[in-house]
Amino acid sequence: MRRVVVAFALALPGAAVATVAAAPAAHADGCYTWKRDLYQGRSGDDVHQLQIRVAGWAGRRDIVEIDGRYGPKTAAAVRRFQAAYGLRADGIAGSQTYARLYALQDNDCTPEHFSYGELDDGCGRSGYRGGPVSATKTKENALRAMWKLEALRRDLGDRPLRVTSGYRSTSCNRQVGGASNSQHRYGTAADLAAPAGRSLCDVARDARDHGFSGIYGPGYPDHDDHVHVDSRRENTDDGLPNTTSWSAPDCGIGAGAD
Ligand code: ZN
Repeated sequence: MRRVVVAFALALPGAAVATVAAAPAAHADGCYTWKRDLYQGRSGDDVHQLQIRVAGWAGRRDIVEIDGRYGPKTAAAVRRFQAAYGLRADGIAGSQTYARLYALQDNDCTPEHFSYGELDDGCGRSGYRGGPVSATKTKENALRAMWKLEALRRDLGDRPLRVTSGYRSTSCNRQVGGASNSQHRYGTAADLAAPAGRSLCDVARDARDHGFSGIYGPGYPDHDDHVHVDSRRENTDDGLPNTTSWSAPDCGIGAGAD
C-alpha cells in the first residue's frame, strides 16, 4: 500500500511535494537504498547488504552467511527481524522492512545504537589499523558485529548496551593481556556490560540467538565482569576452526554444549 502511494506521489510531483517531504523518505537514506523486493531465490549486492543487517536474527547456534544469496536462513532471519519490530513476518524484504532498516541505520551504515568510535576504543582510537587484517576489513567486521549487537540490544529490552572493549590492535591487545589470537584483533568481538535491570547471564543467554559464535561470560576465567561476544565462525582470517565456542558456566552455558 505504501509503495502505491509513493508511486502516485512521484507521478504528480507538483501536487505531492508536501506529502513526499513530510514522509520519512526511504530513497533519501544516506547509507544504502534498496531498489527491489527481496525474497528466497534472489541474489546480489542488495541481498548482501540486507544480510549484514539481519544477521543478528539468526536462529540459536546458527549464523546467516553474508554471501549475497537469499536462502532459507536469510528468509528466517528477515522473519525474526520483522516480528521483533512488529511488522508482518513474511520473510520478504519489501517497503516496510526497508523503512524499518532505514530508521535503524545511520548515514555511515552503523545501526542506531552503536558507532565505529565506540567499537574502536582499544587503547585509544586507532582507526581500525594495526591488526592482522586491513583496516577496511576490520571495519567491515566491526559493522557486522554492530548489527548483531543491535539485535541483541532489542532482545534485551532496548536498554543501553555498553561496549567496554571492541577492536584492539595487536599491540593494544598485548598491552591489555588479551589472548594472542583474540577475536578483538579482527574487529569481530565486543565485551559487554549488563544493561540496567538485566544480568550478565541475561546477556550471555540472549546472545546465543543473535549470530554470535563466540560467547564467554560469568564462570569462564576472567569473564565475571563482562560478556564477550564474537563471530569467530565467520572469521576466515584467524586460522582457527570455524566453529561455535560458548562458555559461561555460571549461566548454565557449557563449552559448546548449549
Ligand atoms: Zn573479549
